[in-house]
Amino acid sequence: MPDHSASAKPWWNSAVVYQIYPRSFADSGGDGVGDLPGITAHLDYLADLGVDALWLSPCFRSPQVDQGYDVSDYRDIDPLFGTLADMRELIGEAHSRGIRVTLDFVPNHTSDRHAWFASAVAAGRGSRERARYLFVDGRGPEGELPPNNWQSYFGGPAWTRVAEPDQRPGQWYLHLFAAEQPDLNWRNPEVLSEFADVLRFWLDLGVDGFRIDVADALIKDDSWPDTADGQPIIRKDADSPVHSIYRTLRTVLDEYPGERMAVVETGAPDDVVALFIRPDEMHLAFAFRFGRAGFDGVALRQAIAESLSANAAVGAPTTWVTDNHDTPRSVSRLAPVAQTPAGPRLDLCLGTRRARALALLQLALPGAAYLYSGQELGLPNADLPDEALRDPIWERSEGRLRGRDGCRIPMPWSTAAPSLGFSTSPETWLPIPPEWADLSVQTQLSQSASMLNLYGRALALRAGSSALGRGELVWPAGAPEASELLSFDLRGSDETVRVVLNLGAAECELPSGQILLSSAPLRRGRLPEAAAAWIRLPPPIA
Ligand code: BGC
Repeated sequence: MPDHSASAKPWWNSAVVYQIYPRSFADSGGDGVGDLPGITAHLDYLADLGVDALWLSPCFRSPQVDQGYDVSDYRDIDPLFGTLADMRELIGEAHSRGIRVTLDFVPNHTSDRHAWFASAVAAGRGSRERARYLFVDGRGPEGELPPNNWQSYFGGPAWTRVAEPDQRPGQWYLHLFAAEQPDLNWRNPEVLSEFADVLRFWLDLGVDGFRIDVADALIKDDSWPDTADGQPIIRKDADSPVHSIYRTLRTVLDEYPGERMAVVETGAPDDVVALFIRPDEMHLAFAFRFGRAGFDGVALRQAIAESLSANAAVGAPTTWVTDNHDTPRSVSRLAPVAQTPAGPRLDLCLGTRRARALALLQLALPGAAYLYSGQELGLPNADLPDEALRDPIWERSEGRLRGRDGCRIPMPWSTAAPSLGFSTSPETWLPIPPEWADLSVQTQLSQSASMLNLYGRALALRAGSSALGRGELVWPAGAPEASELLSFDLRGSDETVRVVLNLGAAECELPSGQILLSSAPLRRGRLPEAAAAWIRLPPPIA
């Protein structure tokens, strides 16, 4: 097997990173909520699967209003998930299996229970404590109207009014998300220095990097204008002070040996995304466009080509992602076959075939690939009854939006009662559909054609290839963009692999060569509809 570790490129350039939503991975304590020891107990599973690194969604102290994205103490683990000692153990055990560990870093907002916020409310107008957040006087004769019309991304106004120390109604604070998530003032150098220290705390503990939550939202237009649609104005442009923040945080990462990295979450257009991963800023940025392209060859090709070229312009690799804890799972997203008055009609078998095909596309593309726990099992999105919903979006939108719980269901590990091996409790924080026994890890390990085994084979081939995940992507000369077929070559140092994705309704021809893997059995040597294949091309005749 070629030794890619010896190459000049840092590890994240072609890493496969597995996202764990700690609540939903494995519960060791029997309270129906996943925890850190649960993750440690399943590291062999992740090592066998063949991932290079983990990203853990937040497990810091938090009132859990937004399932941990509301942090009240950035330097401690929430007792729901364990202790700092459990985190040390997890990191040590992961490292001993060659798996790196990255954590979520949530800089845009704290919890309203963070000590800083409590003292900001108590200290009153104009204080140093208030200057850490975005407190603004209201409009109207008594300041009774919010400073502008911005709406929170979770629904409702983005401003909440506080009572001043004399108990009179006072200033308003900005929260792009829930009212319990006050936004920090990143123009204040004290905020930057505190968060640089938070990074050091975890880097000292041995973590390999971070995923930066809503990384592009730190700097708002602080002239606080109304907007036509109520959308907040965020400064993401090349001249925004946000970039000097990331330059400073980069120097913190660089203080540490062992290639520490950060991946930014931004939903901005490609050229804006690229600004955040210039050589002196962060290392990776999710290419969400790829995941949003659906199952359409033209849209996928454009997303791939344009993300690659925007990132190459700043010398950064591209980070392919289809699923995460905020998005309906791709098996369901790719399943609609018809619109009905009650919503789209889903064909989950088709969604699964397409998700298998897309997995081979994602894992072939040059760059980093992020997988979301359960993606390797082909879990669909779950439909939950109203009373089970926990996402703050449900409440804040007054029941208009169901939120993201459907993609956050606990993992089915086995067919065992009471909760498919996830917990010893029959009550889990979100209910697990009983029919997921058929999708459990145990079940899929015993079926050679399962989604889990497809991922395992794909990751093993990728790890041993100079082309898959790291070669030069070459589009076929003269081939028109087509919504029904996507094909390209990956040129490595010792092999060229052709990737063919059949998005149409009929079988298609494959080139001659060695079939390395296909997402569905070939039919008389042809690739069936809604399927993908990797073919090692014969070496060119000299
Ligand atoms: C996270 C969400 C979270 C939000 C607020 C997003 O980027 O992925 O899960 O609700 O930030 O922190």
